[in-house]
Amino acid sequence: MAASRNTFRNNLLFSYSAIFLIVALIIVTYLYNREKQYKISYLNNELNNITGIVDRYININSIYPLQKYDLLDSLQHLLPHSNLRISVIDTSGKVLYDSFVKDYKSMGSHKDRPEIIESSGSSFGTAVRKSGTTGQKFYYFSKLYGKYFVRAALVYDVNIANFLKANLHFLFITLGCFILIGAILLIVTNRFGESVTRLQDFTASLKNDKPFIAEFPKNELGEIGTEILEIYNNLLRAKNELANEKEKLFNHLNALNEGIALFSAGKDIIFRNDHFIQMMNLISGDLKIFTSNFFEIPEFASVNDFIEKYQGIEVKSSELPKMEYQVTKDSRFFRIQCVIFNDKSFEVILNDITKIGKNKLIKQQMTSNIAHELKTPVSSIKGYIETLLNDDDIEPRKKKYFLEKALAQTDRLTGLINDISVLNKIEEAGSSFQTEKVKIKKIIREVRENFRSASEAKKMKIEINISDGVTVKGNSSLIHSIFQNLIENAINYAGEDTTVRILVYNEDRKYYYFSFSDDGVGIPQEHLNRVFERFYRVDSGRSRKSGGTGLGLSIVKNAVLLHKGEITVRNRAGGGTEFLFSLPKN
Ligand code: ADP
Repeated sequence: MAASRNTFRNNLLFSYSAIFLIVALIIVTYLYNREKQYKISYLNNELNNITGIVDRYININSIYPLQKYDLLDSLQHLLPHSNLRISVIDTSGKVLYDSFVKDYKSMGSHKDRPEIIESSGSSFGTAVRKSGTTGQKFYYFSKLYGKYFVRAALVYDVNIANFLKANLHFLFITLGCFILIGAILLIVTNRFGESVTRLQDFTASLKNDKPFIAEFPKNELGEIGTEILEIYNNLLRAKNELANEKEKLFNHLNALNEGIALFSAGKDIIFRNDHFIQMMNLISGDLKIFTSNFFEIPEFASVNDFIEKYQGIEVKSSELPKMEYQVTKDSRFFRIQCVIFNDKSFEVILNDITKIGKNKLIKQQMTSNIAHELKTPVSSIKGYIETLLNDDDIEPRKKKYFLEKALAQTDRLTGLINDISVLNKIEEAGSSFQTEKVKIKKIIREVRENFRSASEAKKMKIEINISDGVTVKGNSSLIHSIFQNLIENAINYAGEDTTVRILVYNEDRKYYYFSFSDDGVGIPQEHLNRVFERFYRVDSGRSRKSGGTGLGLSIVKNAVLLHKGEITVRNRAGGGTEFLFSLPKN
């Protein structure tokens, strides 16, 4: 971390030093060359003067015509440089005099010396070269004076060492500047380096999906960093919230009882809940199915046609195209819905509506049963009234008989209508019916009282073996209906001289468990499973005669279920029927 933290500063300093070195090198090279040029032009000037002096000396002393070159030796000590080499060479290249060589007469031709060649064509000629005679490196300057060249040469000492020595102060100034600028750079990089490093850390944490908690330094770059961080954090928060919402939505979609799938415009699956594949299995009848096979299943061909139909058509978000149809598979009913969105992605919803379908069927049966049940008493009443109307001479005794029969049928009709309305109330109430504290013993006593004459007529005893404290949390009129129907049935079907026993045989934290039994004829075993069905009668003739509607036990069962209790019926070993049911404690 520490290494990477300083990288930015180190890189900057390294680049800076490299640039500085290059610039310093260029400057030094430039200055060195300038110094060299200057020294050369200075030398040329000086050597030009010297050759002029030598020429004048030759002329004054008539050295050339008299060939008295030895006289030039005396000139040597008058000249400014002790190590100055003076040569006189005639135009043919013959050396007439050389101050450094004793035996100059035997020296070879100097015609091809570069400085001689150059000076014969221009005002002077120069060359730097190692002397063949002395072995030293010389700077030669030659000039043509009429019939001869005068050449002055100095030991060549324009070298880097001398230059550096001469320019040491310059290098010190440069180094000082470098250190000063470096220090300023260090402060500046320190100031921004931390911000840059934080920014680097920030991007690294972004890449690794880790939270970034550090703070940016308080400078311009740091402020930019803080703002970027804030924008990023806001984005991250929004993204997380969105992901949460998405998660919630998906959870919600998964918790639904319907199968939901979202498809892209290209018919690729984007999302589906768990139910979707189950529904697909049920509808297609194929267990090894994948969502990608959706459009291959014949039952969904209509969805495909629907999607295709809207391919090139623009879809407004206010009027999203929807379609719905139903399919039946293995006596189950399914609803298939499809909605196309404006980006042409679409949603498919699969619903198992078997229950709804069944309920619809039951309702239909119920309506036709009710119609049938109503028809019988209504047509009897109609028959009696018609007879009375058509026959004026009817005997008063017969008249009374017909009227009594009509009245009995009217009672039956009233009973039927009452039962249907109770059942309807139970159905409509759902779970929102009113509950109260219901004293069971009190209710049963009331019912027993209501049926006193009927039970006495059948010599029936009704024993209530329940303590006064047994209270149930329920709807008193429904609980009343439960015991009324059970006692009425016992009176009607159990037979004469029987005993009804009502007791609490068990209880737990939530429920009381009741037993309602008689010791009468019982219900034939094959009918036991069906007695709770609406309009189901074991012996319809007998039931009608006794004023039964076939709805009594259905009311009892629905009332118990509405209280979240359970009910079963069985025949007692010793004869008679026993209903076992539970009701919630208060
Ligand atoms: P109903 O209106 O015919 O009484 P219920 O639904 O109350 O209709 O009863 C269904 C059938 O169950 C009755 O027709 C009757 O045959 C039989 N049943 C009900 N209770 C008893 C009982 N205690 N003993 C014998 N049979 C009974």
